[in-house]
Amino acid sequence: MLHTGLAAKILLPVILALHAHPDDLEILAGGTLALLRRMGAPLVMASMTPGDLGSSDHFGDRISKLRRQEAAASAKTIGASYACLEFRDIAIFSDDPSRRRVVEFVRAVRPGIVITSAPVDYLCDHEATHTLVRDACFAASIPGYFTGSQEPASPLTSLPHLYFTDPIGGVDREGHTPNRDFFICVDSVMETKRAMLGCHKSQRAWLRVQHGMDDYVEQMERWTEKTGQAAGVEFAEGFRQYRGHPFPESPALQEMLALWCR
Ligand SMILES: [Zn+2]
Repeated sequence: MLHTGLAAKILLPVILALHAHPDDLEILAGGTLALLRRMGAPLVMASMTPGDLGSSDHFGDRISKLRRQEAAASAKTIGASYACLEFRDIAIFSDDPSRRRVVEFVRAVRPGIVITSAPVDYLCDHEATHTLVRDACFAASIPGYFTGSQEPASPLTSLPHLYFTDPIGGVDREGHTPNRDFFICVDSVMETKRAMLGCHKSQRAWLRVQHGMDDYVEQMERWTEKTGQAAGVEFAEGFRQYRGHPFPESPALQEMLALWCR
């Protein structure tokens, strides 16, 4: 039994889930990430920024420190690690220095599967993250692409399978439901998804003041339930696979999660 378990773990690819802010991943893919961890997949959860504008009471380093701690606690809930790429809120741009930073990070993590933001979403940071991660995954395997790092990681030997989450709220800027290639049923891990988002305590207070939302976790639950209705289950998360040349088109994530894939 021991040998079988070890063999299964060795075959599982490293998963990198990288979105713009602390809590985006929990809202859009927390259940899927919990399932991946449950089967033993190595998982790095990362945010582009530490969510430095996500408070009406604390600013700069103070809120950043708090939100890094919240994100790390959430990742720890499922035995994942957390990293922040230290961009800043409303200041993520798809430019040359930013792309080199993201490439260095992708090369260091060496993922077989990458999950990132939808191409169209309500917030500029989400859309810039989408473009940066997509293009960084492409550039990460090019030997002559240098990041400027003092201790550069070696180029990837192959491109990772690339997936996009839904936009926040499950709708694009015009309120339309996005295209999805598949859903992951997260009925069995909703308690874990709630617990992960519950780690982001600072956000409930912020959203109450800034957006008049007093139901942070409950709103996530309603979105996950609405997505579940589209999938024919109680709770689900939607995904698209990027198939642009020369990214791998085989259904790596769908096959890993075949039991929950709809
Ligand atoms: Zn966000």
